[in-house]
Amino acid sequence: MNSTAVIAIHGGAGTILRASMASDAEQRYHAELHHVLAAGQGVLAAGGSALDAVSEAVRLLEDCPLFNAGHGAVFTAEGTHELDASIMDGRTLEAGAISCVTRVRNPILVARRVLEASEHVMFTGAGAEAFAAAQGFEFVDPAYFHTDARYKQWLLARGQQGSMLDHDGATLASQSSAQPDDPTPHEPIDPNRKFGTVGAVALDQHGHVAAATSTGGLTNKQAGRVGDAPLIGAGCYADDATCAVSTTGSGEMFMRMVAAYDVAAQMAYRGVSLEEAAADVVMNRLPRINGRGGLIAVDARGNVTLPFNTEGMYRGFARVGEAPVTAIYR
Ligand code: ASP
Repeated sequence: MNSTAVIAIHGGAGTILRASMASDAEQRYHAELHHVLAAGQGVLAAGGSALDAVSEAVRLLEDCPLFNAGHGAVFTAEGTHELDASIMDGRTLEAGAISCVTRVRNPILVARRVLEASEHVMFTGAGAEAFAAAQGFEFVDPAYFHTDARYKQWLLARGQQGSMLDHDGATLASQSSAQPDDPTPHEPIDPNRKFGTVGAVALDQHGHVAAATSTGGLTNKQAGRVGDAPLIGAGCYADDATCAVSTTGSGEMFMRMVAAYDVAAQMAYRGVSLEEAAADVVMNRLPRINGRGGLIAVDARGNVTLPFNTEGMYRGFARVGEAPVTAIYR
């Protein structure tokens, strides 16, 4: 047993500007991050596995409308929601993922079931929903994923043509007409990019790591588009021998850089620290191809790093026995 158990989470990166963030909105983000971290910390404190801690943290983030995953997911170009999620166990290198699901309430729980109950690693679309149904998962009407804030971002993104990161969309929305009756706080974004994927990484008391990632993808993405979030190695990776990683950002670039795995590979092959490997991916390699976003990572010694190359990233970490730490801006 070791006492360095820790969980880290993210709620997406993007153009999150202090100037355009109302203080009550800021408080709400901190409170939600704190709540999720405390839940994950509780799992770890009770001797639970890193896999259980990241599943629970991401499930809570999916249920929260502030983040682009589950309830609160962004809209596709068709005005629908298509959700992606993945999870990996660093102890066994087992993984599960689903993509393009439209009616599953908690995609991360289905991804977890793929890890546990299927000989396959990834299911997509109708096949993923058939797997979920056969496993007895809860289905929701697609309207469950609708939130007025994301709808507004989508209308703006359509006007701009192209897709955008979730938090970039929110900044854009906050800079256009504010609707006083809209319960979702408008965090800041720029007209081009905002990412709101959620993720968690953890190290448990038994020395094992795990990672989980879940997203609605990019606002106004083309139907059928799959990003990095459900791809093992791109948006999610975990190996006790190196680290656990969950990413958020311009998914296409994270896919091309095999970003999550690259952090682990640099540690293994170059012998560098977690912090150095993660910083190289986020600050050097991704920017080379205009990759925007960040990642969270932990290693088996309890080191934690949360680098990002955007203006902000909703993030936090909590060590067992210590108060959770949350942050938004650089
Ligand atoms: N990486 C996600 C995707 O490309 C978006 C995000 O992080 O918000 O689907």
